[in-house]
Amino acid sequence: MSSQPARELNQGEQAPTPLEVLQQVFGYSSFRGPQEAIVRHVVAGGSGLVLMPTGGGKSLCYQVPALCRPGVAVVVSPLIALMQDQVQALLQQGVRAAALHSGLSSEESAAAWRQLNAGLLDLLYVSPERLLNGDLLDRLAGLPGPEPIALFAIDEAHCVSQWGHDFRPEYIQLGVLAERFPTVPRLALTATADSRTRTEIVNRLALQQGQVFVASFDRPNIRYLLRHKDDARGQLLRFLEDHRGTSGIVYARSRSRVDRFAAELRAAGLNALAYHAGLEARERSGVLERFRRDSAVVVVATIAFGMGIDKPDVRFVAHVDLPKSLEAYYQETGRAGRDGLPAVAWMVHGPGDLPQLRRFIDNSEASAAQRQIEHAKLDALIGFSEAPGCRRQMLLQHFGEQLLEPCGNCDRCLEPQTLVDVSVPAQKLLSAAWRTGQRFGAAHLVDVLLGANTERIRQLGHDQLSVYGIGHDLDRGQWRTLVRQLCSLGYLQPVPEGRGGLCWGGEELVKPLLRGETRLELPLPPPAQQRLQAASRSSRSTEPGAGSRAADVDQSLLLSLKAWRREQAREQAVPPYVVFHDRTLEELAARRPRSQAELAGISGIGAAKLERYGDGLLAILRADDRAAASS
Ligand code: ADP
Ligand code: ZN
Repeated sequence: MSSQPARELNQGEQAPTPLEVLQQVFGYSSFRGPQEAIVRHVVAGGSGLVLMPTGGGKSLCYQVPALCRPGVAVVVSPLIALMQDQVQALLQQGVRAAALHSGLSSEESAAAWRQLNAGLLDLLYVSPERLLNGDLLDRLAGLPGPEPIALFAIDEAHCVSQWGHDFRPEYIQLGVLAERFPTVPRLALTATADSRTRTEIVNRLALQQGQVFVASFDRPNIRYLLRHKDDARGQLLRFLEDHRGTSGIVYARSRSRVDRFAAELRAAGLNALAYHAGLEARERSGVLERFRRDSAVVVVATIAFGMGIDKPDVRFVAHVDLPKSLEAYYQETGRAGRDGLPAVAWMVHGPGDLPQLRRFIDNSEASAAQRQIEHAKLDALIGFSEAPGCRRQMLLQHFGEQLLEPCGNCDRCLEPQTLVDVSVPAQKLLSAAWRTGQRFGAAHLVDVLLGANTERIRQLGHDQLSVYGIGHDLDRGQWRTLVRQLCSLGYLQPVPEGRGGLCWGGEELVKPLLRGETRLELPLPPPAQQRLQAASRSSRSTEPGAGSRAADVDQSLLLSLKAWRREQAREQAVPPYVVFHDRTLEELAARRPRSQAELAGISGIGAAKLERYGDGLLAILRADDRAAASS
């Protein structure tokens, strides 16, 4: 791969401005959110902390200053696979980048050292161990020139936090950078935003004087769709039907469920791979590699699959089991749609998930106080899944941000539920709980109301009760929804230490309702029969695949461009998105540029890529024009 010293400045030449670098090197027209302020701050020599959601655009916050300031930018990153991707992507953009980590051959590291010593690098990626052990720091300090180091960037900076979910002891020692290189800007970056982690990063990396930059944590291109779980397997298969040909992640609770779901998806003809901590390291990295290289792979995984995925074209993240907190949910779903194109976060949830999660917390080694926190986190997640309002408003509110209007891109906004007067069914349900002795769970109460003829009901004599079989006004799914809603509103509550049993909640609520003095209106799903018909009518239109922009994109041209990209990626042994992101190909297929100048105006095509790929792209576009003209 050629690495022409495109960025070398001749004496007397002005350093490029951040905007020039953004446009000419990266091919983007403007900065996003707080990027511009951060870049200016660092170019002027400032240090700081950047909090930005996954996919928010953290990399450019240090890559642009690296090219505006003299010297090499040293980027500390914990994940070798990510470093390799970043270096490859930068080389494609004509930026002189290299990495030093334990995964390199001795020739490869020798080459990186030579470039570093000769002042031929704009960016050097290193693992924290590599930076701190051995003599790399001394060598950096001994580099010639007045300003040999442009900046230090500390990626995944939350790894410094012992409270966080991904503590790495080496990170703590990074505090030494402030002592040894007091005049070099240090930029810490993370997508984990809670205030304890934030404070810890600032303290440990000695960023007190630095600034904290917080981007919005909203991910507007992600559509949140939650569904009540009735048949997770069937629901998942139907969901995936609309996403064939794209990549995504399916999260499940346990290894055995991961294996089972993966096998079922394969049986349904999907390209599905299982990933969990029970697999051998080689097998795991093989799965990760296929996921990175291929644009139509579904990985079914436990939460072990997460760190290190910066694949930009993950089109969906599906949860068939509840995650353990809203933080976890947001992080896992955040892996979808990093490229900014439409993506879906889909989850089926139901009360059946809870007993096991609760037991898991209770049986953990954690202190009593910690276990209580875990239970509270789970409660917040359940509150989110049951609440009637806009999903995004609730999520952002949880993270301390306010969204003034409902988002229009979640199930609550897209599928408004009409309110139904449920006063009578609610009375029946409360009576059933009372008559059966206030100790049975939802499944049994619904069985009684629907007049189910089960062994258990006959044994308990519940078929003799006046409430037996009086509930045919609702179907099973509707009854389950009503139970959940009455629980979240406080009409019903769990029996203390009862296994899922329910008893009456506050008398001040229950009594007036039973006496008919208050009415209750709640959203209910349509009856199951109707739901099935509606689903088959609208399966393609409601669950978004490529999204609305797809309308202007010439699909056959897009396929040719993707085939061309696959070939380029294969020849150079890089993932396809290192060549071009989907977004760039879509823009090409929509705008059909016919000259080098027009190509340069496409997002994601900078000077180096224009030179390398421009003729190839124009040839494909011309061939497509000819084919269109002759047909
Ligand atoms: P993060 O590291 O925060 O998860 P990345 O730095 O990988 O996010 O950026 C996510 C995606 O957004 C990348 O594909 C990147 O090229 C793109 N991107 C970042 N900033 C811009 C911008 N100003 N204009 C257009 N695309 C951008
Ligand atoms: Zn919404």
